[in-house]
Amino acid sequence: MRKIVLFVLAAAALGAQQAGYPIEIVPPGKGPFTFPAGYQTPWDKIQIMVTSKMSPNLFVLHGSEGLDPAHPDASGGRAMALFGPDGVLLVDTENRQVADKTLQTIRSFTNAPLRILVNTHIHPDHTGANAFFAKQGALIFAQDDLRNEMLRPPPRPDGTPAPAPEVAAVPVVTYKYNAGAPGQPAVTFNMNGETVDFIPMMPSHTAGDTIVRFRNANVIYIEDFYRNFGYPFADQNNGGSIKGMLDAVDLIEKLADAKTTLVPGHGTLVKKQDLLAYRAMLVDMLA
Ligand SMILES: [Zn+2]
Repeated sequence: MRKIVLFVLAAAALGAQQAGYPIEIVPPGKGPFTFPAGYQTPWDKIQIMVTSKMSPNLFVLHGSEGLDPAHPDASGGRAMALFGPDGVLLVDTENRQVADKTLQTIRSFTNAPLRILVNTHIHPDHTGANAFFAKQGALIFAQDDLRNEMLRPPPRPDGTPAPAPEVAAVPVVTYKYNAGAPGQPAVTFNMNGETVDFIPMMPSHTAGDTIVRFRNANVIYIEDFYRNFGYPFADQNNGGSIKGMLDAVDLIEKLADAKTTLVPGHGTLVKKQDLLAYRAMLVDMLA
């Protein structure tokens, strides 16, 4: 008996993926997708599903395909939920319009209290349901810059001031990127048998990005640095830059090993070798 226990502990210390994981349940749609002129997203038709399982208690949530023109392959940005006796840790929230459905989907696999929410970046497909989940009890973590972006949003494209944020949506616990130690976690949670690192990124996709590493599952949520459709997007209104995105991709290459599952905010799940062609595209854009 003792030998078995020691073996299990050794495997966990190495960060080995659990046998049989990840399990992809609903891959993103392949299209082609077309939307008529004047199309409005029918939020009531969009489902939020468990689309993959990274370990027995680390699930990925994503929306239906073919309905959301901003993200036709799967509506919204991916969210992740780590759950168990220590409560739920949520990475990103999906859009505001599907907040209740996102909670219902979480409740389909756990009744544990919502405790922690981390925002990977400010875009509404990742933070739109912040206030909703704060009211469910989650304490919101993010980079200081994300909090500032939320409190002082850039004007709208037509020059009019953006509306003030909902108070409950604003991150409560903040941390900063340390240029002297890129890749160093700002916060580490030990809960539900996992070790979870919030790793602040240099100004890149936005000024306030965080990637989230689950050491035991050997998974990194890399949010929107990478996309396998369309053109790379650096949100310059929110402090992003293509050069920063290149630095971010290089840092992810260092943090991941060959087997690490990288979970982008959109598109297919990838390994670090899959980032190489994308990195070349960023280099071209800078030339
Ligand atoms: Zn996104």
